[in-house]
Amino acid sequence: MLGAVVSLVLVLAAAYAVTQVGGVITLLLIAAALFLAYRRLSLLAFSVTFTVLLLAYTFFGSAGAPAGVWKGFLWLLLAGLWLLNFRPLRKALITRPFMKEYLRLLPAMSQTEREALEAGTVWWDGELFTGAPRWEKLLAAKPPQLSAAEQAFLDGPCEELCRMLDEWDITHERGDLPPEVWQFLKSKGFFAMIIQKKYGGLEFSAYAHSCVLAKIASRSPTASSTVAVPNSLGPAELLQHYGTEEQKDYYLPRLARGEEVPCFALTGPRAGSDAASIPDTGIVTRDMWQGREVVGLKLNFSKRYITLAPVATVIGLAFRMFDPERLLGGKVDIGITCALIPRNTPGVSIGRRHFPLNIPFQNGPIHGKDVFVPLDFIIGGPSMAGSGWRMLVEQLSVGRCISLPSNTTGAAKAGVWATGAYARIRTQFNLPVGKFEGVETVIARMVGLTYTMDAARSVTAGAIDGGEKPSVPAAMLKYHVTEMGRQVANDAMDVHGGKGICLGPRNYLGRGYQIVPVAITVEGANLLTRNLIIFGQGAVRCHPFVLREMNAVHNPERGAGVDEFDRALFGHIGFTLSNAVRSFIMALTHARFTRAPVQGATARYYQHVVRFSASFAFAVDVAMLSLGGYLKKTEGLSARLGDVLSCMYLASMVLKHHENQGRHDEDLAVVEWACRNLLYHAQEQLHGFLRNFPNRLLAGLMRALIFPRGRVYSAPGDRLARKVAGLVTSPTEARERLGQYIYRTLEPGNALGLLQEALLLAVQLEPLEKRIRVEGVKTGKVTALDVPGRIQQALAAGLISETEAAALRDYDRKVMDIINVDDFEPHELAAQVQPAARSTHVA
Ligand SMILES: Cc1cc2nc3c(=O)[nH]c(=O)nc-3n(C[C@H](O)[C@H](O)[C@H](O)COP(=O)(O)OP(=O)(O)OC[C@H]3O[C@@H](n4cnc5c(N)ncnc54)[C@H](O)[C@@H]3O)c2cc1C
Repeated sequence: MLGAVVSLVLVLAAAYAVTQVGGVITLLLIAAALFLAYRRLSLLAFSVTFTVLLLAYTFFGSAGAPAGVWKGFLWLLLAGLWLLNFRPLRKALITRPFMKEYLRLLPAMSQTEREALEAGTVWWDGELFTGAPRWEKLLAAKPPQLSAAEQAFLDGPCEELCRMLDEWDITHERGDLPPEVWQFLKSKGFFAMIIQKKYGGLEFSAYAHSCVLAKIASRSPTASSTVAVPNSLGPAELLQHYGTEEQKDYYLPRLARGEEVPCFALTGPRAGSDAASIPDTGIVTRDMWQGREVVGLKLNFSKRYITLAPVATVIGLAFRMFDPERLLGGKVDIGITCALIPRNTPGVSIGRRHFPLNIPFQNGPIHGKDVFVPLDFIIGGPSMAGSGWRMLVEQLSVGRCISLPSNTTGAAKAGVWATGAYARIRTQFNLPVGKFEGVETVIARMVGLTYTMDAARSVTAGAIDGGEKPSVPAAMLKYHVTEMGRQVANDAMDVHGGKGICLGPRNYLGRGYQIVPVAITVEGANLLTRNLIIFGQGAVRCHPFVLREMNAVHNPERGAGVDEFDRALFGHIGFTLSNAVRSFIMALTHARFTRAPVQGATARYYQHVVRFSASFAFAVDVAMLSLGGYLKKTEGLSARLGDVLSCMYLASMVLKHHENQGRHDEDLAVVEWACRNLLYHAQEQLHGFLRNFPNRLLAGLMRALIFPRGRVYSAPGDRLARKVAGLVTSPTEARERLGQYIYRTLEPGNALGLLQEALLLAVQLEPLEKRIRVEGVKTGKVTALDVPGRIQQALAAGLISETEAAALRDYDRKVMDIINVDDFEPHELAAQVQPAARSTHVA
C-alpha cells in the first residue's frame, strides 16, 4: 500500500514538474538522468551531460516563477555534483566522517567467520549481485562432459555395483552393506574418486564424481552415503591440499587402495551447527612415542554422528589446540587444528553405531581420552596448527556442491522415473492415475524440481571443473537441492499411495523417503544454511563493493585505507542509484527491453533474471545501509534475500542446462515450469522481505521501485502442468534425459527397469485396451470385472487375437508384480539380533 502511494506521489510530482516548467526539456533531463544511471556512466560523464542539458534548459526552457525556482534547484544540484568530482574535498567532507559511521555499522566478526567469508571463489553468484549479470560469462563455459574412462566406470564398475545392491537386504536383514560390496567398493576405487592418479586414485572430474553418486543414489541410499563421505570433505581431500609430502605418500595410496577407511570427526554433543565452538582439546605436551620422548598433543574429545566411524581405520579429527607451556614458542590458544589419528591409537574408543532413520550406513560416536600423538600427525605438519577451520571451510565449498546435491538428485531422478511410469500403469476409476489433474500437478512439480536440481548439480560441477570453488553456490545447492528433494520424495509417496508406504523387498521408495532428513541435516543443517549462511556469506563475498569497503576500513595504512574506501563508497553509491533506476524501469516494462543473450522461447527468462538481479541488488544495499549489523540478527530478512539470490542462481542454472543439453524443444515446457516457479518464488520472497522490513518508509520506497506494477509473476498453471507431466508418463526423449545416470537396467529386482518395461508395454497395448473398452465393455460383450476375465471374454468375442490376448496377459502380470506389496509373518519383522547394552554417552 505504502509503495503504491509513493509511486503515485512520484508520478504526480513528475507530471506537475512537466506542466510547470516546460515539458520537453524537463522530460529530456529526466530521461537523460535515468538513462545515464541505467547505463552506469561515471560521475564525471553524468556531471558533464547534466551541465549541457541544464544550460539548454536555462536558455530554452519556459520562463516564470515556478520554472525559476526549479532551475535554481537544479543548478544547486549540479554544483553539488561537480563538488563530488573533486576527490580531496569529498574525502574530507564525506568519506572520512562516513568511514567512522561505517565501522560502527559493521557487524562484529570473529576470525573463524572471517576465514569462512574469504574461502572459495566468487562465480556466477557474484554476477547476480551486480544488477546487470554478464550472461556471456555463464554461457561461454563448456558443457560438462565425461571422459572415456569416466563413462567406462559408470557403465562398468558402477553398473555392476548397482546390480549387487539389494536395499531391503542391506537395510532390514543385515543392517550393513554385504562384505562383498565393501570389498568391491574398496578395490574398484569408489572411495578414491578425488584422489590423484599418481597416488593410485581415479582423479575424476567433479562432474563424473557427481554422476557416479547420482547413479548409486538411484539404487541405494545406504551405498551412496557410504561412497559420498570418503570423496567429500575428509582425510583424502585435506591431505591433497594441505598434507606434507610424507603424509600424502603414506596415506593417499593406502586410501586409494581401500586399505585405509577414513572418517572425519568435527561434530560433538555440545557443538553441532556452531562447529567452531568444539570443546575438544589437543594440549601440546611431552610424552613417550614409540620408545622415545617427543613433543606432541594430548587429545581429549567426544564426537558423535561421524559417518564411517564404526569401520574407519583413520580418523580426521578437528580439535582446539593449546600450548599452555609455550613449548612451540608461540600463542597459548592456537586454534582449531586437524590431525589424522589411527584407529588403534591408545585412548581412542570407536566402533559403536548410531542408527540414522533406518538407513544403516556406518555412523557412530568416537571418544578419546588422553590420546597422545606426535605433532607430525597434524595435517600439513606443525606449521598448519591453528589453520583447521580455514582448511575445512575452503574444502567445504567444493564438497557441498557435490555430495548431497548429487545423491539427492539421483534419488529424485529415480523418484520421477518411477512415478511417471507408475502413474501410467496404475489405473483407478478406469483411467491411469496420472491422467487426473490433481496427480498431474504433483507429477509436474516433481519433474520441474528434478530438472532444476539436475541443472544446478551439473552446471555447478562443470564450474568446479573449470577451476571454481564456489562457496556461496555450495550453500545454495546444499539447501535448495535437498529441500527440493524432500518435496519430490513426498510427492512420489503421494502418487504411489500405499505402494510407497509398505516396506519390503518390493518397495522402491520408502528408504529414499526415510533418508531425506539426513540430507537436510548433515553438512550444515538447512535452517542454519538458509538463515545464516547463504545471504550472510553472499552479501559480503559476492557484493562488488562491500568486501572492498570492509578491507579499506581495516587497512592499517590510514591514507591508503581512506583512498580505497572513497573509491569503493562512491562506486557503491552510483551502483545503488543505478540499481534503483534499473529495477524501476525493468519492473515497469516487465523487462521487455532488457538485452537477452539468446533468442527464442527462453529469452524472456534471461530478461526476468536480470530484472530481479537489479531489484535484489538495490534491496540489499538499502537493507545493509539502514540495518547494518542488525541485518545479521534479522534472520527472516536475510533468509528471504538468500532465497531471492538462490532463485536467480537456480533459474540461471536451468537456462544454462537447457543450452548444455542442446536446446531441445521438447524440454521447453519443463524449462518454463522451472523458471516460472523460481521467478514466482523470488517475487514472493522479495515481497515477504518488504512486508517485514522494519523501516516502513524505506520499505514503501523500495516497493515503489521494485514492484511499481504490483506482483505480476504467477506460479506455473494447470495447462503447463499437464504438458510437463505428460513428458514422464510417456516414454519420451525428455524422460530419457531426466533419467540419465540412474540405474534402470531391465532385470529382476530392479524396479526402475521393470517400470520402464511396463510403461513401454502400456503405450504399445493402449489401442487394444481401448478396443476392449469401446467394442467390448460398452456393447456388453465384455462384462467381467477383473482384467484376466475381460481378456478372456474379449478373445472369445473375437475382439482380439490369441497373440494379443497373450500380450495383454503378460502386461497384466507385470503390472500386478509391480503394484503388489510385501507381507510378512509377524516374527519376520522383529530385529534378529539380541538386545545389547545401550549407551548414552554424557559429554
Ligand atoms: C547421519 C549424520 C551423519 C553425519 N556425519 C557427520 C560426519 O561424518 N562428521 C561430522 O563431523 N559431523 C557429521 N554429522 C553432523 C552434522 O553435520 C550435524 O548434525 C549438523 O551440523 C547439525 O548439528 P546438530 O545436529 O547438533 O543440530 P543443532 O546444531 O543442535 O541444530 C538444531 C537446529 O537448529 C538450527 N540452527 C542452529 N543454529 C541456527 C541459526 N543460527 N539459525 C538458524 N537455525 C539454526 C539447525 O539448522 C538445526 O535445524 C552428521 C550428522 C548426521 C545426523
